[in-house]
Amino acid sequence: MAFINKILQKTKTKISDRDGGGGSGGMAAASKPVFQGIDSPTNPIPLPNSPADAQQQYIATAPMVQPTVTYATVPSQRHIVLSNAPAPPTSTSVATRAASFSLGIPATGKDPNVYNPQQTNYTVQAVPAMYQNPQPQQQQQPVAHQHLFHMPGPHHNHHLLHADHHQQQQQQQQMTMMNNLPPALQTGERSYEDTHVQLDSFEVFRTVGTGSFGRVRLVRDKQTGKYYAMKVLRKSHVVRAKQVEHVNSERRILAECNCPFIVYMLGTCQDRVNLYFFMEYVVGGELFTYLRRYHRFPPPVAKFYAAEVLLALEYMHARNIIWRDTKPENILLDSNGHVKLTDMGFAKKVVDRTWTLCGTPDYLAPEVIQAKGYGRSVDWWALGILIFEMIAGYPPFYDEDHYRLYEKILAGRIQWPPQFDPVARDLVSRLLTADLSRRLGNLHRGSADIKEHRWFAEVDWNRLAAREIPAPLIPPQKVEGDTSNFDKYPETAETYGDMTSEDPYADMFQDF
Ligand code: AMP
Repeated sequence: MAFINKILQKTKTKISDRDGGGGSGGMAAASKPVFQGIDSPTNPIPLPNSPADAQQQYIATAPMVQPTVTYATVPSQRHIVLSNAPAPPTSTSVATRAASFSLGIPATGKDPNVYNPQQTNYTVQAVPAMYQNPQPQQQQQPVAHQHLFHMPGPHHNHHLLHADHHQQQQQQQQMTMMNNLPPALQTGERSYEDTHVQLDSFEVFRTVGTGSFGRVRLVRDKQTGKYYAMKVLRKSHVVRAKQVEHVNSERRILAECNCPFIVYMLGTCQDRVNLYFFMEYVVGGELFTYLRRYHRFPPPVAKFYAAEVLLALEYMHARNIIWRDTKPENILLDSNGHVKLTDMGFAKKVVDRTWTLCGTPDYLAPEVIQAKGYGRSVDWWALGILIFEMIAGYPPFYDEDHYRLYEKILAGRIQWPPQFDPVARDLVSRLLTADLSRRLGNLHRGSADIKEHRWFAEVDWNRLAAREIPAPLIPPQKVEGDTSNFDKYPETAETYGDMTSEDPYADMFQDF
């Protein structure tokens, strides 16, 4: 599978990237993050000494799993039974593997519940966590096609009436989405004036990322000593690439978002040459780095990230924002291992539909490729691609040639690797459904259909939204402002804060 090797490199280019952006300068020194219990058989965790210990370790290793532990000591044989298993785990079940690793036992046994009987005396049963009396799967109601694609009809008045009704319906739908957000995500709005900063309040350090029109650097507030990320966009590049509207929209959207799973923007400013975004510094780096390091994630780990990304999407959609740029490179991990989406460059407030062809090729939904009007549905498609890529280690549709790639996306044929159990496969295929009147997330119950899918059965969404579910991977962080989780990039000698001459772009970026 030569293509897999190819995509192991960070090769994803966005469309709409017309002038490229400086490449990766190679991986940061591979300091191993804490990734206990999963793919770390050479470094087994010490055996638990008590039920509390066992539970603690188990939680640390399999985040979506919170077992009830029954624990018994027999002189030569200790049994640790993690009860309430809903279904016998298979030998590839990661929950079981994680549990067995947490006990320091390689998961080699044929019988999924008994591991390596020569070496161990343990019986481990895996238990999906937070098992919340799962709701029976709701019957999905397809939305009538004209609701998704209401086009102006020949009868003008009729159209206006319908448009009114349509608008009312949309407002109602948005109110419902807002009210349905988990309490932890019902955060207040920020005032617009609150988002202007002074460039010279910050000391500038190394580059931690490059985007399409500039770079992201670590900076420190001279007064408070706090670290932030400063994204620098060269105005001339933005203008040349016809991205003025996207960049202004990025600023508006970041200023509006106050969500624990989306990077928080402190403020912006500009000089003659550049635009500057100051954001919270997300120390763990890109999910992409970890995914490539571990090749693929065990399903419970993939589920944790997918669930947090879903909450971020739900938060945006409730504000009529579509993200349009889901991919592991744009998903950062904070110091506790929780997700923070970054890069709102393609995010857009869309009440109804939009037509721009933008995004990252592997993640484009068929309706974007076909230049149909589209809405939030594209983010649910991209979530399907993300889940597939996390579990398989490569995206479901891939070709170096973009046109062939688009053909594959439109053909929609997916080869399922063995890591997919039927439930995961069912969810991903429902998300990767070209027919918008059948795609999960795009039906009249919106994201609720995805959250209630059996693959997410054990997720307690309110606790997840409150960030109470421990993350599977704690990024290493030695000091404040640690940059070791980021790739190294060649630095430039540019200086910031040039106000010496007239700014030819002054009119274009008035909000900065
Ligand atoms: P962007 O141009 O927004 O896609 O950012 C490019 C890269 O910079 C990202 O993929 C991250 O690696 C890094 N980056 C962006 N925002 C932050 C942030 N707030 N904290 C740390 N790194 C970031």
